Amino acid sequence: MNNKSRKAVNLLLSLVLSLSVLVSPITELNVNAATATTKKVTTVSQKSKTVPKKTTVKKPATTKKSTITSKKQVAVKPQTPVKPPVPNNVKPVVQEVKKAKNVIFMLGDGMGISHTTLARWYKGSNLTMDEITAGIIRTYSAESIITDSAPASTAFATGVKSNDKLIGVYPEKIELPSKKTVDEKEAYKPLATVLEAAKINGKATGIVSTSQVQHASPAGFTSHVPHRELYYDIAMQQVYQGLDVVFGGGKQYLVPGGEKYNIPDDKGRKDGNDLIQELKNMGYAIVEDSKSMKETNANKIWGLFSDDAMDFDKDRNPEKQPSLAEMTKKAIDVLSKDKDGFFLFVEGSEIDWASHANDPVGVISDVLAFDNAVKVALDFAKSNKDTLVIVVSDHDNGGLSIGSKKTDSTYPSLPLASLLEPLKKAKVTGKGIEKLLDEDRSNIVEVMKEYFGIEDLTAEEIEAIKKAPAGKVQYVVGPIISSRSTIGWTTTGHTGNDVVFYSYGPCAPKGTLENYQFAKIMADAMGIDLEDANDELFVDLETGIQYIPGAEAELNVTDMANPVVEITKGKIKAELPVNTNILKINGKVYRLKGLTILSKSERVYLPLEALDIIYDAK
Ligand SMILES: [Zn+2]
Repeated sequence: MNNKSRKAVNLLLSLVLSLSVLVSPITELNVNAATATTKKVTTVSQKSKTVPKKTTVKKPATTKKSTITSKKQVAVKPQTPVKPPVPNNVKPVVQEVKKAKNVIFMLGDGMGISHTTLARWYKGSNLTMDEITAGIIRTYSAESIITDSAPASTAFATGVKSNDKLIGVYPEKIELPSKKTVDEKEAYKPLATVLEAAKINGKATGIVSTSQVQHASPAGFTSHVPHRELYYDIAMQQVYQGLDVVFGGGKQYLVPGGEKYNIPDDKGRKDGNDLIQELKNMGYAIVEDSKSMKETNANKIWGLFSDDAMDFDKDRNPEKQPSLAEMTKKAIDVLSKDKDGFFLFVEGSEIDWASHANDPVGVISDVLAFDNAVKVALDFAKSNKDTLVIVVSDHDNGGLSIGSKKTDSTYPSLPLASLLEPLKKAKVTGKGIEKLLDEDRSNIVEVMKEYFGIEDLTAEEIEAIKKAPAGKVQYVVGPIISSRSTIGWTTTGHTGNDVVFYSYGPCAPKGTLENYQFAKIMADAMGIDLEDANDELFVDLETGIQYIPGAEAELNVTDMANPVVEITKGKIKAELPVNTNILKINGKVYRLKGLTILSKSERVYLPLEALDIIYDAK
């Protein structure tokens, strides 16, 4: 890459990043976003070179260098497949050899073992999850004993433990469980997800979440970006993935701000793209409330039930926002029409957010809503025996415990009421109560009495609620209600504790597993090969272009927000807009099975199919 285009790419990356950071929701996780992404790769090591394993492109041409990549001479060798970086001696115990036609993968974000203990006590009977308890998961990332959601989701989806903030891409450094050097060319390489692999094998696919659908966990299965907060890039990749069903929040990441979509002017896309219109052009039904979701007969649906994240289950308006169980049911109804089967990802996203705020009411609300969704999936699997259901958590959060320093001497004789009584009085979550406060927060005492049943607020507590920044009242009232129960918390961050997983159906795993093992378990269950999917979906352009005689490639950044990879071969000009599955050759438009990705290491990856079409183009 020459200096000019390198500069352009850097500019582009920082522009995209700054746009994303501007509109990110205010959570503790967002701190230091910008600085983290612009870090340069420094780890360099062996010079292995990736080449597509099973190319259908006819024969190698004379080596022609792409103008888009480095000037180093390339030696073409057989591909070294990307392997999981972490060794593991624990083999999953496979119950049956029968294959799974359908896989439903469900993730309770931040759901530790005590979260389910608490929800079970509150419910007063077993959870649905209890019926299919199967084992525990080691959750650490490639660099930390405590993972964040992005590398955890990447591990579940791709089979590779990655670094903090990275979504669907290979890590730049591996520190755990032992240090390993990462090949410079592999760092940030997009990795095929089990969802993408299912899709190119003919299965219907869908994602459901209560967060914005661009949030880290659903993003890990559907996109490939160097930072979890690149919501606009994630949204664009998801739109062009050809998913059959998408339900959740996050409408504002698809369209520009303004009256047309009722998005505030300071929110929305800044790159001029109207992706809802694009979805409509592709034949999708767009639904924005519970009734229209239930009533649509469409087979391809995007349901956007909030501009950003949806509300906690306890706080939601059921007419506007469907429950996680309702979204899961509709997704299964639609996807199960595909005779080849389906892969569905479902997330109870906000168990995590309630835990960051140490709000036990939010935890109970969304663990129970998640468990109701598990019931929907399990009921389907029980009457469709070719369906594998796997329920996981990505990490524990908060260090929630039943018992605290306050119970040091009283624990042997604690009645259930000491845990539940304060929690049962709550009519909304700690998040929901913020909306009920006056603008000047003069009604704190009344609101806390009416909605939380708390009548003994101290002057300090009232003051703390009053002073809580907008959007952060939950972080104050969560601990207030916890202190009236026998609940303890050790942190407002994640923990490195193991978490529980649950499974049912053909090839259901059991035992002590690493998070990254689930990708292969699910792929094997469906009879799908993730390495084949990697070869098919993400060919390094620098290597791939050598197979097309006389071809040259360039990155056109005339429109900085919408870069286009251009490949010319004589009079033929092929255009591949980044983050899409579009290939245009002399005016003709092809829809590819995969996406064109510009990685943080300034390398371009594209589907093998694109090179085949360009090779054959006359
Ligand atoms: Zn998480």
